[in-house]
Amino acid sequence: MGKPTGFMEYDRETAADRAPLERINDWQEFYNGLPEEKLRTQAARCMECGTPFCHSGMMINGVASGCPNHNLPPEWNDLVYRGLWKEALDRLLKTNNFPEFTGRVCPALCEGACTEGLIGSPVTIKSIERAIIDRAFAEGWIKPQPPAKRTGKKVAVVGSGPAGLACAAQLNKAGHWVTVFERADRIGGLLMYGIPNMKLDKRYVQRRVDLMAAEGVEFVTNTEVGKDYPADKLLREFDAVVLCGGATKPRDLAVEGRHLKGIHFAVEFLSANTRSLLDSNHQDGKFISAAGKDVIVIGGGDTGTDCVGTALRHKCKSVVQFEIMPRLPLQRSANNPWPQYPRVHKVDYGQQEATALYGDDPRQYCIMTKRIVGDEQGQVKEVHTVNVEWVKNDQGRMVPREVPGSEKVWPAQLVLLAMGFTGPEDTLLDQLGVERDQRTNARAEYGKFATNIKGVFAAGDMRRGQSLVIWAINEGRGAARECDRYLMGSTNLL
Ligand SMILES: Cc1cc2nc3c(=O)[nH]c(=O)nc-3n(C[C@H](O)[C@H](O)[C@H](O)COP(=O)(O)OP(=O)(O)OC[C@H]3O[C@@H](n4cnc5c(N)ncnc54)[C@H](O)[C@@H]3O)c2cc1C
Ligand code: SF4
Repeated sequence: MGKPTGFMEYDRETAADRAPLERINDWQEFYNGLPEEKLRTQAARCMECGTPFCHSGMMINGVASGCPNHNLPPEWNDLVYRGLWKEALDRLLKTNNFPEFTGRVCPALCEGACTEGLIGSPVTIKSIERAIIDRAFAEGWIKPQPPAKRTGKKVAVVGSGPAGLACAAQLNKAGHWVTVFERADRIGGLLMYGIPNMKLDKRYVQRRVDLMAAEGVEFVTNTEVGKDYPADKLLREFDAVVLCGGATKPRDLAVEGRHLKGIHFAVEFLSANTRSLLDSNHQDGKFISAAGKDVIVIGGGDTGTDCVGTALRHKCKSVVQFEIMPRLPLQRSANNPWPQYPRVHKVDYGQQEATALYGDDPRQYCIMTKRIVGDEQGQVKEVHTVNVEWVKNDQGRMVPREVPGSEKVWPAQLVLLAMGFTGPEDTLLDQLGVERDQRTNARAEYGKFATNIKGVFAAGDMRRGQSLVIWAINEGRGAARECDRYLMGSTNLL
């Protein structure tokens, strides 16, 4: 523990993000960093708890608590406080292959469980994580580290999101020849074509991919396994296969008018935007533009927030975000105690920006879409809604009940559906004969990651359903460990 009295002496401090009205004019990241002296002061707040809940990664009554990847914040906090950045980096990389991603996009389950949060404000674990890895890249400490020996075994990883990348990095470290197949034109999964550039700069994704390629991982893009590359060929040509294809089936909205032009799934909108930005700085026009339009985003979660931030940068006319659930409380409720992740109202970057521009938070709560109406050209024109209240039904389940007289018509020329995902796509899983669980995900026990097909493993959203980058990294690492054990009889991977 760096400074025993640090937690009593210093208050939590994070750097203010770039001003909302400035940042909506570009696609650069919205974060700022603290200077070194302040970061060390923040690290001094860590109490190096006897039982550090920040890295516990448990489920408590079905709610996550602490880092699922069992990262080691007390150790890096101590080292950062003492100015030992390189040593802090070693601790960081022990559990997490890609802190430059989680240090930007993770909701920081660790901070939700930090003991200091019980009586005050948690340690700024996430910004310290980002500072360590950003410094490491800036100082040139991160270099390709190909394995000293090769085993001669060949592994195919299908899907290049955080699960596939973490899995490939670990298997390569163990000396196997790893080929990552990706159907998109760029590597990264939702890191590349889901999360927008202002939240995770794609240069950082590409930098990591280049590093892995220099370490010996082979990347094959524009190749959908099960279509462009037959599944049986994969089984013949590789000693093992790890499926990391994500949960890419978006949840649809079954209402009248769904077929109209101008209604898109969120990821379609977000991925086209990033591709066009990277290919041509939007000069090719190959994206769904929100410019000058009234935009309705259906879905109040993080994906919806990314749509709000993107629409604002296109210079939309207005943007409203619908959420069917009530607004979360400002403080933890009695059934959501520390160290569970706090389920409280947050104002994320997209809402901050919309509020700065239009004066109001764009979210509307307890609102349900009844139908969508178009003009004579079949283009969306209006969204019709009704407010709902949540009541218990006969089985004791909370269900939405329409509030009479609360019907409303919203002008809309662009509607974005951001209501989550229902599971992985079937083609490849069917071809391989992989069994599914009751939520249609690839069936493979957590910790073992083995499917019913010998030598075929599954990890990330494809196995657990829609989740988080840190869970995908954790699962990719776990699947690599089990795959290595399968190939070699034992494993040294963590
Ligand atoms: C818009 C959006 C924003 C998000 N923001 C955050 C955030 O801020 N923080 C956070 O923690 N989480 C966030 N998430 C969730 C997070 O991105 C996912 O949980 C995570 O990326 C899952 O990783 P994965 O590797 O399992 O799958 P994915 O990242 O979905 O990658 C799967 C890849 O597999 C490829 N693929 C699928 N089938 C095949 C095939 N047959 N052949 C070849 N390739 C194939 C797909 O093209 C895709 O690239 C967000 C999700 C979305 C949709
Ligand atoms: S719970 Fe908070 S104070 Fe305790 S070790 Fe983890 S980061 Fe430090």
